[in-house]
Amino acid sequence: MKIILLGAPGAGKGTQAEKISKKFGIPTISTGFIIRNAIANETEVGKVAKGYIDKGQLVPDEVVTNILMERISNEDCKDGFILDGYPRTIAQGESLDDNNIKIDYVIDLVVPDEVILGRLTGRRECSKCGRTYHIVDNKPSVEGICDACGGELICRKDDNPETIKNRLEVYHSQTEPLEKFYTDKGLLCKVIGQDSVDGTYAEVLKVLEA
Ligand code: ADP
Ligand code: ZN
Repeated sequence: MKIILLGAPGAGKGTQAEKISKKFGIPTISTGFIIRNAIANETEVGKVAKGYIDKGQLVPDEVVTNILMERISNEDCKDGFILDGYPRTIAQGESLDDNNIKIDYVIDLVVPDEVILGRLTGRRECSKCGRTYHIVDNKPSVEGICDACGGELICRKDDNPETIKNRLEVYHSQTEPLEKFYTDKGLLCKVIGQDSVDGTYAEVLKVLEA
């Protein structure tokens, strides 16, 4: 099963991806997390990406598409995967088609911008495994430590109000057109992001198990 999670930054793609991944036994691929790792490790890709990500802009399509194609050629992706954060432009959506990657579901997590702002400023990310938390709504058992792997929780550099504003603008101008792209293919399923993670997940499951 191949699933795309669409939605604004902070719509809860990562959190839902993790739950879907557990239930269906397929890996989650977060291009943002891969890129942040590349930056931390100062790889060539990391050096290119840094200037974009820090400003809340998109990393160029060719760079991200190469990263993605390499990742999904791995053995663990042979039965499917969940894409969290790719595609983010029409060109990236077309790249999936060009590479004959047949998507089964596109789940569009719909959350208003006002809600997003509050969520992102309280977000924390595990520096080791990428799992996300929230300082109010989704706390770890021990403050500052990842429940899943014991890694240190950090506040992402791009989760500050100014950069968040840019990311939302980029989302509306460059990523939102994918809603029509996938509606035209008959793949788009809108899920309204609920107050609770489990409430949203129940709606996601209705789509995947329909
Ligand atoms: P969020 O969904 O909260 O914005 P991500 O971790 O998915 O977080 O993305 C963070 C940043 O990584 C983006 O703002 C962008 O700079 C870069 N990025 C991630 N995925 C892509 C992509 N598919 N295309 C271009 N840039 C990307
Ligand atoms: Zn972790």
